Amino acid sequence: MSDLSREPTPSDLETFDAIVLGAGVAGIYQIKRLTDMGLDAVVLEANDDLGGTWFRNRYPGARFDSESYTYGYSWSQELLDEWHWTERFSPQPETLRYLNFVAERFDLRRFMRFGERVASMVWNEEERTWRVTTTAGVVREARWVITGVGVLSVPTLPRIDGVDDFTGVSFHTHAWPADGLDLRDKRVGVIGTGATAIQLIGALAPEVGELTVFQRRPNWSVPLNNSEIDEAEMAEIRSRYEEIFANCAITPGGFEHVADRRGFDALTPEERRETWDRLYDEPGFALLLANFPETFFQSAANRELSNYVADRIRGRLDDPEVAEKLIPRDHGFGMQRLPLETNYFEAYNRPNVHLCDASDAAIERITPTGVQTISGHHELDVIVYATGFDAITGALGRIDIRGVNGQALQDLWEDGPSTYLGALVCGFPNLLMVGGPQSVSGSTNYPRALETAVDWISELLASALNNGHTRLEVSAEGQHWWTQEVEEAQSRMPFGHSSKSWFTGYNSNLEGHGEGEIRHQAYWGGAPRFRTFLEAAAEADYPHIDLR
Ligand code: NAP
Repeated sequence: MSDLSREPTPSDLETFDAIVLGAGVAGIYQIKRLTDMGLDAVVLEANDDLGGTWFRNRYPGARFDSESYTYGYSWSQELLDEWHWTERFSPQPETLRYLNFVAERFDLRRFMRFGERVASMVWNEEERTWRVTTTAGVVREARWVITGVGVLSVPTLPRIDGVDDFTGVSFHTHAWPADGLDLRDKRVGVIGTGATAIQLIGALAPEVGELTVFQRRPNWSVPLNNSEIDEAEMAEIRSRYEEIFANCAITPGGFEHVADRRGFDALTPEERRETWDRLYDEPGFALLLANFPETFFQSAANRELSNYVADRIRGRLDDPEVAEKLIPRDHGFGMQRLPLETNYFEAYNRPNVHLCDASDAAIERITPTGVQTISGHHELDVIVYATGFDAITGALGRIDIRGVNGQALQDLWEDGPSTYLGALVCGFPNLLMVGGPQSVSGSTNYPRALETAVDWISELLASALNNGHTRLEVSAEGQHWWTQEVEEAQSRMPFGHSSKSWFTGYNSNLEGHGEGEIRHQAYWGGAPRFRTFLEAAAEADYPHIDLR
């Protein structure tokens, strides 16, 4: 075992110009940019291989709900020419293959170290370097540290009594066994009905003996409407890539879907219903993003749409009582992250699938052999916790990061994060975050946002290096200005002050993240507006950043 209290000797130390944390979608592009700039850089990845989210989330049904060709990288013509997406919404194994293809295509693996979980980072003001120590006690130093640690990468288990008592097989969806599981004769319980569970349940239902779903609150969900992409369609997509990325760049969410601005009230209820019938059958987030904006911002319009979706749910369930339990009553359509589904509602029509809803069967505890609810005991062989993540700040919060004068980032962010453009924090020089808190990475099509962030961070670094600077830090004023902008943007969202969703920091399994403990951890002003702030900062030569 290594001795963490021992000061490393110079011969222990590996030094780099830059250390990147995380070999997921963000880290892969970031290391490409840094090494292209000629920096001596390394990626430290906690997992045993690259891929981040797509390395970890191997549960049946895991796939994109962004169109594959809007999720892939846009920065290499070779990649766009060579890669063939086989489905409109790529399944997890294909996405992981894609990320491996990218790493191999550009020979990026040689810069990556796996199984390296960073435990602490300490700023050395004299040397202007970060000392980065892993949980195994390996110490490295670098002038710059860039984090790409993911927005949904720290799973949270439920705070339910008895979780450790269960004697069968149990795990969080994030830890679904890589070799798969034969569940054909098994009694399986799934706890949670978020986006993960909704994908999982639709895929798992025909594959297991008995499936019991423990639902605390239902979620709105609409069909993904996935399809295969053949050679001809892929050729058509390739010919359109420039247009696709341009389209994504001008919508708030970074998708191709464009809002319907004919005016909610200018149409009759029948015309609105016809529109929704069409959108319900379209792929992806069409019903959310290609809808009338009034359905999001005006409560009467939102109610009408919610009633429409509720009717669609009723139409897909054989048992009206089950249908009513699957319809949310505590929030309107689109007011939480919308899960997209394939055969989710139909799963409940199967004789081997049972819904245990908290309204009459709330969980009391986990027992050695199953789940005890207020109305009975469920004997289970396997329990799957689809109970979500410590979103956005979770991964950074688990690293002991000490900035100027030993200030701990964890203390600074105890009640929620504060950043400059989601990329920098005052008091933490030379630390740059891709997809950090208060950026648009948590609120939009993730790769579209992170490419912008990687590009901005890389240009900022290039500017520092070209001018011989070795230290950069955002001012307190810059950070205050941005945090205010984040708060104002969130307050304009109908869910900004109330949603029981990770969008506003809610997680019932974490201290300080309960109902009403609203956090401002994502930027809700939209990707185009976010980009104008980034561009303005670069054009004005980074007025809020002290470069020396
Ligand atoms: P989630 O949306 O936070 O859902 C967690 C679920 O577990 C909720 O139904 C929650 O109930 C339930 N739960 C949590 N603690 C519980 C407890 N103690 N007792 C009973 N139930 C409990 O998590 P997720 O489904 O993993 O999704 C997180 C995010 O990951 C998504 O919103 C999405 O952004 C992302 N994701 C993306 C994709 C994709 O791109 N294709 C797929 C999956 C997930 P309550 O609602 O009552 O809190």
